[in-house]
Amino acid sequence: MSEIWLQNPYIDKTRAKIVSCERTNGKFRVLLDKTVFRYKGGGQDCDKGKLLKNSTIYRIIDVEREEDKTVHIVKGKGPLNVGDEVICVLDWDRRYTLMKLHTAEHIFYRSLINEFPGSELKDIWLTFDDEKREGNGTITVESDRPIDWKTLTKVEAEVNKIIHENRSVKTYILNVKDLTEDIRVRDSLLKRVDQVRIVEVENFDKAACSGTHLRKTSEITFFKITSIERKGNDNVYHINFKIGEDALNFALMVSNQVLWKAQNLGYNPDEIIYVLEKYEKLRGSLSYLKTQLLEALPSYIEKSREVVQNIPIYHGICKGFEAKELAMLGRKLKKKIKESFVAVLLGTNETASIVAISKGVNLDVSKVLKEFLSEHGGKGGGRPDFAIYGIKKSNNINELLNSLVNKFKSELTKLQT
Ligand SMILES: [Zn+2]
Repeated sequence: MSEIWLQNPYIDKTRAKIVSCERTNGKFRVLLDKTVFRYKGGGQDCDKGKLLKNSTIYRIIDVEREEDKTVHIVKGKGPLNVGDEVICVLDWDRRYTLMKLHTAEHIFYRSLINEFPGSELKDIWLTFDDEKREGNGTITVESDRPIDWKTLTKVEAEVNKIIHENRSVKTYILNVKDLTEDIRVRDSLLKRVDQVRIVEVENFDKAACSGTHLRKTSEITFFKITSIERKGNDNVYHINFKIGEDALNFALMVSNQVLWKAQNLGYNPDEIIYVLEKYEKLRGSLSYLKTQLLEALPSYIEKSREVVQNIPIYHGICKGFEAKELAMLGRKLKKKIKESFVAVLLGTNETASIVAISKGVNLDVSKVLKEFLSEHGGKGGGRPDFAIYGIKKSNNINELLNSLVNKFKSELTKLQT
């Protein structure tokens, strides 16, 4: 079985012969005498595309590696048999994006270890979203010190420099005994093989790799880090990136949003960091104030006490409260108020939310709320004594609370009769 992509990843179609074909669950598992399709592995997503047999088109929806064989998972009607002559055609956009992502990943990781020499590559994930027609790269790195945005920006600039210098990328085979110190290779690989495939970015990086790569770095055109997520308290990071047009679109989207927002707020674009830092501090104060408010609110809500057929009902509007905070308030009320009661709380933020509670009263508040909202729209759920629902923000919040309270009052009246 010949894997054409190993020698030339730029060939996007080939004639081939089916050497094995099994049909399971409406799909064919096809082995070919030669293929342009690379399997999923080494962090690189698989190629996709189609098989043509005479004028019939079959879709290749997955490509797997089984031992040393490439298994094409094929979907389509008509028969496929051993000995059939077919033409394999790659989804070239998908393949080429994966080649760019993979080559960029080599340059990125080398640039990263130049800045963070004590870091170790834990994982790679290079994918192509078939619906959005967009590529995404992720590397997981464990570093011996925190990775910060400022240094990462420097790394990003270095990657783009290597791209624009249009360095050549070569692929060749080396005997394991001839490997030199400057070649990145996983120890686990060395235990299994006598020879390794090396991918070399001219005067920059050498790594053992079995993926598909470009010939020239300039084909990547542009590289952009899109996010960094720290995992737990360790210095383990997922760093996400895009390449080419996807990277450019991302960079334009972010910069335009910053320009637009800065202009609206009356700042220069380079002052936006100062604005965001100020926002961060304000958010901290707001969260502190909300905590204080949560302590004070139960006493305030207690003043709304009305009695319907011997059962007290409490209610209140909490502006700026999200569902989560409203639920916290509900739990505080339950603790504080010693008598049996029913309470309805309405919170408004970007959306509105309702919390209903009952204590020692045989009233299913979740059911009552559900009934009420069947007319007003809204989603949520809960238990008979504690329910929480999200609702479309109303123009007249007082009116909404009034009708809500009236609904509960009438349910309480029914209970007593
Ligand atoms: Zn590679």
